[in-house]
Amino acid sequence: MLILMEPSATPDQVREVLVLLEASGIRCQVNEAPEALSIVAPHASQALKPDRIEPMAGVRRVVPITSPFKLASADAATGRTVVDVRGVRIGGPELVLVGGPCGVESRDQLFTVARYVAEAGVKLLRAGAFKPRTSPYAFQGLGLEGLRLLEEVRAEFGLGIVTEATEVETFDDVERSADMIQIGARNMQNFALLRRAGRAGKPVLLKRGPSATLEEWLYAAEYVLGEGNRQVVLCERGIRTWSDHARNTLDVSVVPAAKGLTHLPVMVDPSHATGRRDLVIPCALAGVAAGADGLLVETHCHPEKALSDGPQALLPSDFVRLVELAQGVHRALQMPTATGLWM
Ligand code: PEP
Ligand code: MN
Repeated sequence: MLILMEPSATPDQVREVLVLLEASGIRCQVNEAPEALSIVAPHASQALKPDRIEPMAGVRRVVPITSPFKLASADAATGRTVVDVRGVRIGGPELVLVGGPCGVESRDQLFTVARYVAEAGVKLLRAGAFKPRTSPYAFQGLGLEGLRLLEEVRAEFGLGIVTEATEVETFDDVERSADMIQIGARNMQNFALLRRAGRAGKPVLLKRGPSATLEEWLYAAEYVLGEGNRQVVLCERGIRTWSDHARNTLDVSVVPAAKGLTHLPVMVDPSHATGRRDLVIPCALAGVAAGADGLLVETHCHPEKALSDGPQALLPSDFVRLVELAQGVHRALQMPTATGLWM
């Protein structure tokens, strides 16, 4: 259930509700929204009836959460979640772009890409220090050395750093260096990693598994939220279908579908969704038009020399063009006539 407190509820009144929940063996999370405080208590109705809580002082209303996604469900929050990554707000009115190479390859490569990403007005740089690769013989990332380079690039350009955690063993290192931790598609159902991400003090970017349904993706988010980390962003990155003209198939319809079910922001990664540079910009714009809160796009200063995912990396000039086009589509959606027609 979701317990909505009155805006005037005192700390003592909130405490009384929490004490009752605790005494009934119910785990809960407190959300401090600007309008009023609320308490999410998944599965509470099995132990306590709403009419036990509703008459308590300071309680405005008790709303049952009928969805199986007790924490990710739109019913479990009073509004949409906005995830703050080093001052960049994902899920608010602005479209957020995250760009960078697939992997950190060298100081020179990372700094060259970071410079044009920052000059394009993009505030978040994404690059993997630990790379989950299909082949064990492919470039696996620079590891700790990559994390050190990411810290240097943040200091130089003031960019927020998004980077992937691939295993529990190296999670602490990634958490220390990152401003946002990516959980990759292959790890979407690595439950130990999801739980560790849920105990992290940094926001999490949760990619959809290549064969995951929307339901499975939201249950994965539930693992992170359940450990107390409310700062989760979902990222659609294409799913595997029988279509073989592209690396994956961008599931555009999952964007509004997910936004209807959850309060979490939803981003689109058109790079892994297509695997082809020529398809990245059109699919990115489709994602924005479908209501994505942001885009995650791979770009490289020399894609032909990239150690991973070169064929899908945008050239610097195309990256700059995409930023302008995507913001244009987003602005068009904000116009009253467009929003009237849409959603
Ligand atoms: C990546 O972001 O470089 C990556 C490996 O993505 P995914 O997990 O979506 O395959
Ligand atoms: Mn990649």
